[in-house]
Amino acid sequence: MIKKFLCFLTLIFLLAETPLLAQSVPNLGQADRWMKGALAAMERNDYETANSIFRNLIDSSLPLPPEMPYYFAETLFELKQYDNSQKFLNKYLELNGFRGENYQGAQELKEKLEKPLTEIQQCQLCNAQGYRHQTCENCLGAQQIEQSCSYCKAAGVVGCSRCAASGMITKRNIFNIVEYFECERCSGKGRLTCPTCQGSKVEKSDCRVCGGSGKTATETVCNHQELDHDHD
Ligand SMILES: [Zn+2]
Ligand SMILES: [Zn+2]
Ligand SMILES: [Zn+2]
Ligand SMILES: [Zn+2]
Repeated sequence: MIKKFLCFLTLIFLLAETPLLAQSVPNLGQADRWMKGALAAMERNDYETANSIFRNLIDSSLPLPPEMPYYFAETLFELKQYDNSQKFLNKYLELNGFRGENYQGAQELKEKLEKPLTEIQQCQLCNAQGYRHQTCENCLGAQQIEQSCSYCKAAGVVGCSRCAASGMITKRNIFNIVEYFECERCSGKGRLTCPTCQGSKVEKSDCRVCGGSGKTATETVCNHQELDHDHD
């Protein structure tokens, strides 16, 4: 009886695992092919190509080969995307620790990253990712501007909270009969002038495009130097 049961279990495992195996084998092959292609591109210093292959690999949601984050971090370093490079390097060290094939290389990359990351931190011309700032085109650097009132959604009025915007207040009298009164707060209109914009429908507040910083990032990697033609 037990033997029969075990046979039955084995059969279930076989049935359950067969389709999984059939699926994962070609997928691993694809990830390996991409890895080979990316490493070959790195070999010939074509980091743009390596970058796009690595991104394909990430977007495919295939399981990532364990050494991939290291090679991607090297590629991003060469492309001067230092902040991103650091993220993948940390991920690599987190996943593999000192057992990773490229542990030594990862330590060296970590040291190489220190200088450019410090430069980004100290530079006023670029954001935390090292991309050059430009003056916000929406507020022209003013940070705060007059824009549509967010509290009343530019209606100029808001519903009266005391009467739930009905204009009427109900009360029960001593005979337990409901009586209706005009709401005193809104004089029966059900709505009040917006307290934020006083009915003007506009308010002066942090620019919604740049979040009040007066600056937005460009796609240009910053060289941390003022340029004469920076404003064109
Ligand atoms: Zn702005
Ligand atoms: Zn009211
Ligand atoms: Zn308002
Ligand atoms: Zn900079």
